Amino acid sequence: MANTLLTVHDAMSPTLSSALSPSLSSSLSSMLPSALPLALSDSLPQWLIAAPGYLPATLAWAVIGLVIGSFLNVAIHRLPVMMQRETENFIALENDEPAPHTSRYNLIAPRSACPSCGHQLSALDNIPVFSYVWLKGRCRYCRAPISRRYPSVEIITALLSALVVWQLGSELKGFAALLLVWWLIALTFIDIDTQMLPDDLTLPLVWLGLLVNLSGGFVPLSDAVIGAAAGYLSLWSVYWLFRFVTGKEGIGYGDFKLLAALGAWLGWMMLPFIVLLSSAVGALVGIAMIVLRGHQRDKPIPFGPFLAVAGLIALFYGDALVQLWLGQGLGLR
Ligand SMILES: [Zn+2]
Repeated sequence: MANTLLTVHDAMSPTLSSALSPSLSSSLSSMLPSALPLALSDSLPQWLIAAPGYLPATLAWAVIGLVIGSFLNVAIHRLPVMMQRETENFIALENDEPAPHTSRYNLIAPRSACPSCGHQLSALDNIPVFSYVWLKGRCRYCRAPISRRYPSVEIITALLSALVVWQLGSELKGFAALLLVWWLIALTFIDIDTQMLPDDLTLPLVWLGLLVNLSGGFVPLSDAVIGAAAGYLSLWSVYWLFRFVTGKEGIGYGDFKLLAALGAWLGWMMLPFIVLLSSAVGALVGIAMIVLRGHQRDKPIPFGPFLAVAGLIALFYGDALVQLWLGQGLGLR
């Protein structure tokens, strides 16, 4: 399987295309949707679009990751509020009442403000990580402490973006992986904050995974389609089994959709690994939280972050794992 991937990826590498005559190369570009990034990579600088293991590109994407992380902070905070406002407006409309929320509120407007004093933040207050360190973790206007969450999300996004570009490059496959990683970071923190994985994020992630694999991303399209369906159905079955046995809801529908998305991106072969790892780590963390921090047993612990982390491990090390299970395990290689 990995060999097939390698061939597909090689077919798009600049080395091969430069070996072709210019006219053949350009007619190929117009025929194949997957050849589009190739045309792009000719006009973009190499420190931005590069093959795996290229340090300048890795560092550049770490810096871009800081900025993206800053945007993810906004999305993590605002998306659930946006959905809440939309729901409340909808309910009011159904009851022939005036909409409670009329002011503009989305990912761009209004500008960020300090949650304590309401002072609008300037560009200088918004520089990722740097502003936090420079202001010693406090609001410049009222000195209220700023949550460590903000620089943490920025640093996590930077490190994971660098890891993606180092391991997978920043061409089609690597850039797709960057999108997946950023999406998973947003979902993880929204789930931690609200115990919800919004459809607005999980469903587009399913489609995006299928589209990426339609144009030669990570796995053959058939593996991706089966992965999406099997991902949803496997947790859906666990949910109903758990509910049948205990009468309680163990996991939410958002978790099914997130696993469907991971199946669509990484193929069905990764699902057993993702489910096993996320359940095992989830159970350990759950027990630790109950024992160490007196976490209430009945209070749910979000499962999405564990799925996301297992998905990331599958993204980076999955090929090796599948080789181990399917290939060498059965002596097929
Ligand atoms: Zn303030």
